[in-house]
Amino acid sequence: MDLMEYQAKELFAKHGVATTLGVVVETAEEARAAAEQIGGVTVVKAQVKAGGRGKAGGVKLAKTPDEAFQHATDILALTIKDLPVNRVLVTPATPPVEEYYFSFLLDRSNRSYLCIASVEGGVEIEEVAKTNPDAVKQIPVSPATGVDVAKAEAIVDEAGFPAELRDQAIEMVQRLWAVFVEEDATLVEVNPLARLEGDKLEALDGKVSLDENAEFRHEDHAAFEIREEADPLESKAKDKGLNYVKLDGQVGIIGNGAGLVMSTLDVVAYAGERHGGVTPANFLDIGGGANAQVMADGLDVILGDEQVKSVFVNVFGGITSCDEVASGIKGALEILGDAATKPLVVRLDGNNVDRGRAILDELDHPLVTQVDTMDGAADKAAELANG
Ligand code: GDP
Ligand code: MN
Repeated sequence: MDLMEYQAKELFAKHGVATTLGVVVETAEEARAAAEQIGGVTVVKAQVKAGGRGKAGGVKLAKTPDEAFQHATDILALTIKDLPVNRVLVTPATPPVEEYYFSFLLDRSNRSYLCIASVEGGVEIEEVAKTNPDAVKQIPVSPATGVDVAKAEAIVDEAGFPAELRDQAIEMVQRLWAVFVEEDATLVEVNPLARLEGDKLEALDGKVSLDENAEFRHEDHAAFEIREEADPLESKAKDKGLNYVKLDGQVGIIGNGAGLVMSTLDVVAYAGERHGGVTPANFLDIGGGANAQVMADGLDVILGDEQVKSVFVNVFGGITSCDEVASGIKGALEILGDAATKPLVVRLDGNNVDRGRAILDELDHPLVTQVDTMDGAADKAAELANG
């Protein structure tokens, strides 16, 4: 789960990382009130899960509460990288003297963590990496030993923070590491990490991604989920306890077992190349319990996706046998009734496959086509999606 800036800053504050929380509001009127309350010059910042807000006109200085009102009006009307701005953060304007870049992230390919730091922050770090690669330091962090004082010192020295900020930076690096580890984050990024007047280091922006697999040990993280910002289909699936990820294509996918579903996505993507470039519309693993209700819930979510033109149900019967799955599909079609409107291609294999296929043959539903092989079924589903 990606957090908004104001949420990232809440986590920073919780772990003692120097930052200014400000006030999050949803209307220009509230932004004026917030600016009045804060006093002096303020910054009005779009809260969307996208970088480059500054460039897009989503970060503006306001000298007066009326100016904050005007900026908030403009910013709340913006769409940044396809994301509508629904709220703004109003903070005291603390002018940065210098801007640095700092992040911890999961380095999957090296099965390690990585720290990226640069004293040339503020702008997009990808840009700096291109134009001045030597200015961007990449420092591996061992998952076994993490960041202790010595490691924090090494990071700060390699990054080249100014001597007068060294102690503060060492402290901040350790606190950001605490955010990363204790909150189970996969990314903690600060850009800009600003040097303010009086040589104070402060996180002026924050980007945090939390590992959803660790949600169970962070009850407080649920509060970060902003319902209206989430994908409505993913929210619906979550409410039904389904393991669903929305993708961009036209072929809805239901399978049992994450591995089978992943390979189903591949097979459908290949088949799609022969059928007008259609691609998978989602990942949905219904796991072991493919009963009628789970199947109906899964189909209900997928059929609610306007982009979906056909659905591929790919099941390998194991503990849940094919006849149970077939009964599940039959039951799901009964539950959904007229709501089932798109063709289903069903491929059953494995435990009790004959009985499963017989149940669907007998059902003889106009929307259901059975295909015996995974490749054949993927081809059929892609063809129907393209038709
Ligand atoms: P991003 O463009 O989405 O990364 O948004 P940032 O929060 O990084 O803001 C972009 C730029 O606005 C920063 O690089 C700063 O120069 C400036 N900025 C951000 N926050 C503040 C602030 O609190 N005070 C001042 N004076 N400038 C800020
Ligand atoms: Mn930034």
